[in-house]
Amino acid sequence: MRTLITNCVLVDQTHPLHKCQVNILVKDDVIESITQEPCTDFDTVIDAKGGYVSPGWIDIHVHCFQDTTDLGVEADRIGVKTGVVCVIDAGSSGSDTIDTFYNQVKDKQTIVKAWINIAKSGLIDRFELKDPDNVDIDATIAKIQAYDDFVVGIKVRASGSVMGEDTVTPFLKAHTVSNTTNRPIMVHFGNNPPTIHEVLKQMREDDVLTHCFHGKPNNILDGLHIKDLVLDKRKEGVLYDVGHGQDSFSFTIAKQAMSNNFEPDSISTDIHKYNVETPVGSLAGVMTKFLNMGYSLENVVHLVTLGAANNAKLKGFGMLKDGVKAHLTFFEVETVDTTAVDSNNESIQIHKQITPKGCMISGVYTEVH
Ligand SMILES: [Zn+2]
Repeated sequence: MRTLITNCVLVDQTHPLHKCQVNILVKDDVIESITQEPCTDFDTVIDAKGGYVSPGWIDIHVHCFQDTTDLGVEADRIGVKTGVVCVIDAGSSGSDTIDTFYNQVKDKQTIVKAWINIAKSGLIDRFELKDPDNVDIDATIAKIQAYDDFVVGIKVRASGSVMGEDTVTPFLKAHTVSNTTNRPIMVHFGNNPPTIHEVLKQMREDDVLTHCFHGKPNNILDGLHIKDLVLDKRKEGVLYDVGHGQDSFSFTIAKQAMSNNFEPDSISTDIHKYNVETPVGSLAGVMTKFLNMGYSLENVVHLVTLGAANNAKLKGFGMLKDGVKAHLTFFEVETVDTTAVDSNNESIQIHKQITPKGCMISGVYTEVH
């Protein structure tokens, strides 16, 4: 079956027709062509009504493991129903619980993947690294190998409320798993111990530091500048992710980073049951905050498409070209006059709002209301 997507403006910096009005022809679940020429050979039409179409949005830090963990939100609620093609749960499950999680999400409309927690219990409680025996290296490696396409990497939560006195050994165990399975590590940091320096010293090329703009004392700034080690580690290949969350996004820090030309490598929500109403809302809501802070639309879209795909090492996502799986997000930018808050209840004015209108996952289109 051939579907023609028409009357849309492409937002994809990697494509020669970026910012142009295009016709996209989808054959079954694959993009057949993206062109400015008229198309006649198709079975159905999706009229984007002059809106934007981009590669499908990816949220690399969510919590969607329901029942077993208290935090989980239903995956399609924060996925396809808000224009997000792929969500990656960040450490809700560990080697003891990932079977249950996989079975819960494998038939969702949204593509769901996971960072497996280095702690075998995942986030059943939120002190998962207080007990050193709560890590089973061999079992974690075995589960990653069993769920090769599902697990993108390993999650380590490195903050005072999670870890016990030993803040180094959990990293060393995660390195062993990472080396054996060739997967990156996503690291959460917040209140110390460990300090941001101690955390970054344990991070290597392709590892992802989430909550990079949190406003706690242990943050990325040194006065008005970015800490030297943060910049040095970026040169070594460490990647930075937003992970907005309940307590982990500060406009003050994000704006100061911007004035130092320090941008994240991906925008994600850290959305869960207790922040899905406010202050996070949705991935589009977090994108809207960055747009109104002064990021360009194409940059914001890049940070939830190719940037996010690179951070999670997702192949076949993040850019549109002939022959790739048809994962697309349809959206508009509306003029509004409102405000938005960060995790510290600081607010900014919102004049432009990114509003998802639809989502195509493997060639199947769903309208967003
Ligand atoms: Zn999280």
